[in-house]
Amino acid sequence: MTDTLYHFIGGKRVEGTSGRFGDILNPATGEVQSRAPYANADEVDRAVQAARKAFPEWSAASASRRSQVLFGFRDLLVQNADKLAEIVGKEHGKTIVDAKGSIQRGVDVAEFACGIPHLMKGEFSSNVGGGIDTFSQREAIGVVGGITPFNFPVMIPLWMGVMAVACGNCYINKPSERDPSAPLFLAELWKEAGLPDGVWSVVNGDKEAVDALLHHPDVPAISFVGSTAVGEYIYHEGTANNKRVQVFGGAKNHMVIMPDADLDQAADALIGSGYGSTGQRCMAISVAVPVGEDTADAIIDRLKPRVQELRYGPWNDDKADMGPVITQQAKERIEDYIQQGVDAGAELAVDGRGASLQGYEGGYFCGGSLFDHAKSDMSIYRDEIFGPVLTQVRAGSFDEAVKLVNDHEFGNGVAVFTRDGDAAREFANRVDIGMVGINVPIPVPLAFHNFGGSKRSKFGDTQMHGPESVRFFTKVKTISARWPSGIREGAVFAMPTAGS
Ligand code: NAD
Repeated sequence: MTDTLYHFIGGKRVEGTSGRFGDILNPATGEVQSRAPYANADEVDRAVQAARKAFPEWSAASASRRSQVLFGFRDLLVQNADKLAEIVGKEHGKTIVDAKGSIQRGVDVAEFACGIPHLMKGEFSSNVGGGIDTFSQREAIGVVGGITPFNFPVMIPLWMGVMAVACGNCYINKPSERDPSAPLFLAELWKEAGLPDGVWSVVNGDKEAVDALLHHPDVPAISFVGSTAVGEYIYHEGTANNKRVQVFGGAKNHMVIMPDADLDQAADALIGSGYGSTGQRCMAISVAVPVGEDTADAIIDRLKPRVQELRYGPWNDDKADMGPVITQQAKERIEDYIQQGVDAGAELAVDGRGASLQGYEGGYFCGGSLFDHAKSDMSIYRDEIFGPVLTQVRAGSFDEAVKLVNDHEFGNGVAVFTRDGDAAREFANRVDIGMVGINVPIPVPLAFHNFGGSKRSKFGDTQMHGPESVRFFTKVKTISARWPSGIREGAVFAMPTAGS
């Protein structure tokens, strides 16, 4: 008998009532391990009403009370990191070390959020005119919806949700239908940490649940992470309904390798960032851009044997470099892209198609694939493949490499490998990309800095975590105050000015 999951609404596990369910598979075996209910608009409304009920008390709680709950939650995350990693491994498939790393990146945001009293400080100007003081304060927005992708089932709900809650909002997570058990477990940890019921809810589902959040009049803000196609829809639909929306979308991240780079270090970086998490990261490097033919030959010579040696296995195989990809459809899509690359004339240096593992024949494993001599009009270069496929595009010059990076529709992350400080500085200044690494392949900023891309990798003005997230999850009120002091101006009909 398959386990049936639930929603988490108003501090309680709640059975689904829509009659619609989706299977949750173990990507290493292809077996159904549980099923999740898919919420309809009534169930989403139930979560919104529970959040609205909780909002007055939670938003008015002192900043220090909120930070005490956050300290408790952070400790519970650390104590339960192994359990969380196991849940992630079983539903997402990523290797245990990778799962633990991603959980730590979520803990980092919880630690950052513990300093919320400092982060929410406003501004104050004394005696702006006529005995008047003006000050601003940041206030919670209300009920915030968070729609999250399959590839980081702990980290991304934490990145957005912890900051939303820390700022005094009530948060409703609609996790990916592929791996919702970790977000549900986070809800239990919040309850144990003393978060009032209704402040953190989880509503499972698909487009129907997302649309119910997008159209709900009592949800003033939506944060989304996922593919660009869905994100663009969410941005337009949400803003058309007068919501504040931030969208973090898809990516195609380049690594430019200058001839003077430490090529062994660059090859190590390409292997880790191209194939880590089986390429299912929005900050994965999927394009290598060596400058000059000699650099390109040297890089491909280093990469080829290492890609051939990559090991895949289930999440708990500590010798595996990569887990399976998320679904059979994802595997087929990746293999179809590889065929498109071959048909378009790119050189397939390593072919990872047709992977299979003894004892796990139903699993969605892909070997590492490597292309050389790809061109910028090929689909393997243009599209996000989201699998263990690294594509080398040779550039004749630094300027050509910068142009390639800037002409791509996505702008999430980029890296340059060089020993030349001038070249690195110029590169960082000229690229239209949100996050830049200089000899750092995956430049995901730590929690106290802002995360976010450019071009079609992000819609909306604000970024994830860091000080920008406080701006997204709060609104500013500016108050001008004068205390009775015997001053009488009489009625003034002119526009008030500061005076003397
Ligand atoms: P996805 O877009 O398929 O799904 C994301 C969320 O949207 C899920 O909760 C899903 O249920 C929901 N959704 C799916 N289709 C929908 C529809 N038609 N209408 C409304 N909601 C819908 O993304 P995914 O496959 O889960 O995740 C992988 C994608 O996420 C990749 O493109 C990756 O680059 C991107 N991603 C981006 C970042 C970033 O920070 N920029 C981080 C992680 C992942």
